[in-house]
Amino acid sequence: MTDPDLADKPFGCAVCATQACLRGEIGRMPTTCPTRTLPGIAREAKPYLEEKLHAEMLVADAAPFTPEGRLRSRVEELAFYAKGMGMKRIGVAFCVSMTKEAQRLGRLLRDEGFEAELVCCRVGSIDYDEVGLQKAHPDRFAASCNPLAQARLLNERKVDLIAMMGLCIGHDLIFQRECDAPVTTLVVKDRALDHSPIEALR
Ligand code: SF4
Repeated sequence: MTDPDLADKPFGCAVCATQACLRGEIGRMPTTCPTRTLPGIAREAKPYLEEKLHAEMLVADAAPFTPEGRLRSRVEELAFYAKGMGMKRIGVAFCVSMTKEAQRLGRLLRDEGFEAELVCCRVGSIDYDEVGLQKAHPDRFAASCNPLAQARLLNERKVDLIAMMGLCIGHDLIFQRECDAPVTTLVVKDRALDHSPIEALR
């Protein structure tokens, strides 16, 4: 099944028309499918049997549906996952434009028995001038996003898990790099498409 000559070709997923991986149909996979060209990586299942990873996979697998078969929303999945992993303290790093929704999330999490710690992107009230960024109106104060402080404040509170809500692209990367706890994205900011980036791809 493996053709070593194809191992350094672009992964077939970029142009695949079969998605045969979904059904385990190896014969229908394109010749550049990484399942075929790099099976040592693509078909490595053993790590999933190790205790920590296995526990994470079990909870993730159970997250989409309630026991009654109803689909969970992503907010419900977040709470389900955190509970299943025994997490107690959830951090929420949010964009100031989503304050109302983030605060609602905080209340929902508390209702579910978690401690919730929220930090707004403009925390610290640092002016654009202080970080060397240009302002549209140089005579007025303009608060810079402060992803470093968002991360460090949540580190200070030793949260078990962090949900990002609407951090700008780039700021989200700085934020994640600085966080001690694992970070999951709850809301992706897309100003043009009501925070639904997939709409640009349909
Ligand atoms: S069958 Fe292979 S190439 Fe196609 S989507 Fe699945 S993994 Fe990618």
